[in-house]
Formats: sequence, C-alpha cells, structure tokens
Amino acid sequence: MRRPLGRHERHASLCPVTGKKRYRDELAALIALAECQSSPIPGRRESRVYRCEFCHHGWHLTSQRSGHAPW
Ligand SMILES: [Zn+2]
Repeated sequence: MRRPLGRHERHASLCPVTGKKRYRDELAALIALAECQSSPIPGRRESRVYRCEFCHHGWHLTSQRSGHAPW
C-alpha cells in the first residue's frame, strides 16, 4: 500500500523516488553529511550531496562519488 506524501511534511520527509531522507537545501544536506562522516558508528559512508530532481529539488546524501542515478 502506498501512502501519498502529505502536504505539510516540511522536514524529515523521505523522497518518494529514492526513499532517502530529504533535505531542503544544500546547506542542510552538507551539515547532515558532516554529522554522518563524523559518526563513530560503522556502516555506510556518505561521501557527497546531490540535488534530487524528483522531490521538489530536495537534497540527498549518497555514498557514490559520481555519475547519474546515485541511488
Ligand atoms: Zn528525492
């Protein structure tokens, strides 16, 4: 069952296409990236941010360095 995005999800919403957490601008994404990279918890390492063309130009983190379709 798919749940449509609500109208007033202004923060911490997920991208309907990539399923990633969405940031409203580049700065917010970069801050989240820095926090992720400084985390002592092992696991996935995000390496850069990119602007998503699907979710109203939201920003996401990705562990891939280059190329299209980073998800
Ligand atoms: Zn997106």
